Amino acid sequence: MFKALVIEKDDAGYRAGVKDVDDSVLPPGEVTVRVEYSTVNYKDGLAITGKGPVVRKFPLHAGIDFAGVVEASDDARFKPGERVLLNGWGVGESHSGGLAQKACVKADWLVPLPAGLTTKQAMAIGTAGYTAMLSVMALERHGVRPESGDILVTGASGGVGSVAIAVLAKLGYRVVASTGRPQEAAYLRGLGAADIIARDELSAPGKPLAKERWAGVVDSVGSHTLANACAGTRYGGAVAACGLAQGMDFPASVAPFILRGITLYGIDSVNAPQAVRRSAWQRLARDLDLAKLEAITHEITLAGALQAAVDILAGRIRGRVVVNVNA
Ligand code: NDP
Repeated sequence: MFKALVIEKDDAGYRAGVKDVDDSVLPPGEVTVRVEYSTVNYKDGLAITGKGPVVRKFPLHAGIDFAGVVEASDDARFKPGERVLLNGWGVGESHSGGLAQKACVKADWLVPLPAGLTTKQAMAIGTAGYTAMLSVMALERHGVRPESGDILVTGASGGVGSVAIAVLAKLGYRVVASTGRPQEAAYLRGLGAADIIARDELSAPGKPLAKERWAGVVDSVGSHTLANACAGTRYGGAVAACGLAQGMDFPASVAPFILRGITLYGIDSVNAPQAVRRSAWQRLARDLDLAKLEAITHEITLAGALQAAVDILAGRIRGRVVVNVNA
């Protein structure tokens, strides 16, 4: 038997709770992993509370990511005892996930734990941090360099935002953090933000073009914030859109694209090819200050994930939550 945060939906309604289950409930897969840590991402919040249509199969173990030790493997690429991590691929959505002491998954989905990271650090980074790195890599590929100018990070106190700031600052970029929580100013400066602006400078309907301020943007918020970020991006600059904390809409005009030649990159973490995800994880092991990671992270138990799911949707979580599934 092992413990899992099980999501069920039937005539009695939609519910989530920690239960004792046995191996027979695990889905088919080549590799069984003894999970050590998972996390609560925004999508986990939607899945666990049922506030968004994330879960497509019931009953299901929640958790879109995990890190742990291979217990058994039918695939030559992974041996028992090796440490691995996983995020995306529909795990925690249509395939039982990481908020459980055991998971069984396809070998193709797993990433070997990068040297230099523990399983706890990997999940302190989690899908949110890995998505932040995918966003930074998109700006780099575009040619945005520290000398290009300021980088705007929206949703700054959240998981994606916090990791994006820490990574960008370590790489030498001047980061401007947009937050709705002015009380987190010291936290954001501690991560490396050079300047802080209020969320409502960007979250209300704006003009098609604004003053050219940003060489690059990491946006985890969407809606008017993303539209205003594009409107304020400098000639030839780039915006990486990875989230929808404000909304899924994009009420923008083509003006920044056709008059300033800006580029909007879409960032998807779920189905990113293996080569891309492995290089993002290697970069995280190299370019994220682990002392800063520790400072943005707090640890909770498997049962604690139920409340964290509510809190993340309410914008009450600062930084990252790591779940010790064995506590
Ligand atoms: P968090 O909840 O940790 O962070 C989101 C942050 O957005 C909050 O901390 C808050 O920052 C800000 N925010 C919240 N509500 C609003 C609002 N109504 N208007 C403007 N800003 C708001 O979530 P994550 O960082 O884990 O995820 C952020 C987004 O990225 C989510 O939408 C998530 O679904 C998406 N995502 C997408 C992925 C992909 O593959 N593309 C992968 C991972 C995440 P502050 O208080 O500082 O303003």
